[in-house]
Amino acid sequence: RHFLARIQKYNAQLNSVITLTEELALQQAEAADKCLQQGQATALTGIPVLHKDIFCTQGIKTTCGSKMLDNFIAPYNATVIDKFNQAGAVTLGKTNMDEFAMGSSNETSYYGAVKNPWDLNAVSGGSSGGSAAALAARLAPATTGTDTGGSIRQPAALCNLVGLKPTYGTVSRYGMIAYASSLDQAGPMTRNAEDAGLLLNTMAGFDPKDSTSLERPSEDYTRHLHDSLKGLRLGLPKQFFGEGLNADVAKRLEQAIDVLKELGATVKTVDLPNNHLSVPAYYIIAPAECSSNLSRFDGVRFGYRCAEPSDLMDLYKRSRGEGFGTEVKRRIMIGTYALSAGYYDAYYLKAQQIRRLISNDFKQAFQEVDVLLSPTAPTPAFNIGEKVDDPVTMYLSDIYTIAINLAGIPAMSIPAGFVQNRPIGLQLIGNYFSEARLLNVAHQYQ
Ligand code: GLN
Repeated sequence: RHFLARIQKYNAQLNSVITLTEELALQQAEAADKCLQQGQATALTGIPVLHKDIFCTQGIKTTCGSKMLDNFIAPYNATVIDKFNQAGAVTLGKTNMDEFAMGSSNETSYYGAVKNPWDLNAVSGGSSGGSAAALAARLAPATTGTDTGGSIRQPAALCNLVGLKPTYGTVSRYGMIAYASSLDQAGPMTRNAEDAGLLLNTMAGFDPKDSTSLERPSEDYTRHLHDSLKGLRLGLPKQFFGEGLNADVAKRLEQAIDVLKELGATVKTVDLPNNHLSVPAYYIIAPAECSSNLSRFDGVRFGYRCAEPSDLMDLYKRSRGEGFGTEVKRRIMIGTYALSAGYYDAYYLKAQQIRRLISNDFKQAFQEVDVLLSPTAPTPAFNIGEKVDDPVTMYLSDIYTIAINLAGIPAMSIPAGFVQNRPIGLQLIGNYFSEARLLNVAHQYQ
């Protein structure tokens, strides 16, 4: 009731929650009370959570921030949602997001921009901007996000939160509306590392319904939280501290590095020579996969259908033309172009080769160090409206996060202070399956 009241009081200003599930929340809270009385509680029993509106929720609207799905009610739950339910968590509602998770500022949402609670003129980041703003404004103690190129970490950084993108395949993508399937990964957004570990314990696990889900023994992601950082080998990728990085952000990071040194870490510079190719490669691969994934929204099977179509072609064209926003159309066009006969080898194939080089760079780096540290984003949150007409500048706000998705490795953003009164984040990057170690470093630092 406390969080429902806060949502009712503050959400109009922030636009972070787009569906409120009050009745369900109260029912689940009551069930959680019983569970607690019977001594059957899990770590998440009774914990209220807001979910990014990309996760299908049975009987509850799932819009993915698009007019295309404005009236869509999924007939089943995403595995992530089922897992929260089974753990006894309470669903407060669904959060605003960039349309189909394409964006870095939450301004591509059909439901309008989300405001950053630290400064209402600033963007919340994206695409999980609703989850970030709601959490930062304490409309929920924890939220979920998804990250294809930075969409958990960048909004976490811009709103002073912890956001973790796990190793690709750790969290099931079943029922999570696909953007770029080989990059998409869900994860927790919380206020601290311990909460992130507890949420990840619930979210992770093999799922036969997702063909890319990893079959591994389950682990307790909080098990290393209290380990000492003595002997931790920290790497600073030189490409992440060069041109384009705001000088004040760089200064704050230096202070953070000093803290980690005091805690026992040794620091060295490492080379990721192909990193400058990550944004160009991503903006071939992600649109290519999105153009294929979004072909299912054809006016016949899902969501929006145009009025009075004259024939089938007209139905497809107008439903898609009217249902999708500008950024989504831009990506579909880039993707279909890059995949068309004659261009495939020049663009898609090349991008896949670059992807391999980028993951090899990380492989090399992790022979020398345990964890890499970088800024999460080059600047603090920019103003709403500032970059909407300049997609390429917008794409560059993910310059430090995208390579991680291309490689499939885990990374998290943690709060690293304020620059010009707006929060900034520090990114910790680890080798495959090093989530518990990342959470350890984050917990000790925080
Ligand atoms: N901003 C990036 C994009 O627009 C990443 C989005 C994401 O991670 N979902 O594609």
